[in-house]
Amino acid sequence: NQRFNNKVVVITGGGSGIGQTAAVRFGSEGAHVAILDLDMVGAQATQMLIEAAGGNASVYECNVGNAEQVNNVVASILKERKIDILINNAGIAHIGNIEATSETDLDRIYQVNVKGCYNMMKAVIPSMKEYQSGVVLNLASVASSVGIEDRFAYSMSKGAVLTMTYSVAKDYIKDGIRCNCIAPGRVHTPFVDNFLEKNYPDDKEEMFEKLSKSQPIGRMGKVDEIAGLIVYLCSDEAAFITGSNFPIDGGFVTL
Ligand code: NAD
Repeated sequence: NQRFNNKVVVITGGGSGIGQTAAVRFGSEGAHVAILDLDMVGAQATQMLIEAAGGNASVYECNVGNAEQVNNVVASILKERKIDILINNAGIAHIGNIEATSETDLDRIYQVNVKGCYNMMKAVIPSMKEYQSGVVLNLASVASSVGIEDRFAYSMSKGAVLTMTYSVAKDYIKDGIRCNCIAPGRVHTPFVDNFLEKNYPDDKEEMFEKLSKSQPIGRMGKVDEIAGLIVYLCSDEAAFITGSNFPIDGGFVTL
């Protein structure tokens, strides 16, 4: 009755926020979870949470923006196991409109959010092809389709994540590989808390309320709500779903 028994899930950015919660869900439902992150403290915390839930996990220090590191880590996972599921979750944000975005900022965001996703898919897809099965799930954003105010580089990068997803889904459908993405609206993760702490140290509760109330549904998303969709899309119940983008945004895009 464990949905992911004998499955291997590779998740980037599994040391925090949405990725951590999703990793724990996969681990507690029988998967072996390979956590790739820059932050080893976070990744090891996720590993401990998975083990406490009776699952098993391994951790790898890896900058997804660095192709050589990605190739080495993926090769060492593949030496021991077949990769069934890849979650491209690692991502970074940048605040600013186009005038406030330097070329260096743009390149940094592109390197992680776009090339990170590219590097991982490029490293993992050949083995999925060999087995004629696999699932790839990418973290896009509401920014992918409608942009977010004052998030020029981030919106650009997440737009690319959405279209890379469609492209990969089309090219590999014949190889039994499903590829989808989800587009969360604002979700309460350490990223939000750090942002408020840094920019509004004296009135962070007030700003948190303001941000929450500015969502159509009146609050931010919870990591569990996002992880639930991720896990569903990677399960066999979603076998008919590929080449799709799933908004999960409390009405942000349409209401
Ligand atoms: P988070 O900041 O809590 O966690 C991101 C994790 O990725 C961290 O553990 C970080 O160390 C890791 N990471 C960052 N750069 C990396 C790199 N180069 N290589 C490897 N690991 C790296 O983030 P989150 O809020 O949980 O977001 C997860 C994903 O969801 C991101 O792609 C983000 O863009 C997307 N998303 C988040 C929100 C939101 O409101 N939180 C909304 C829409 C989409």
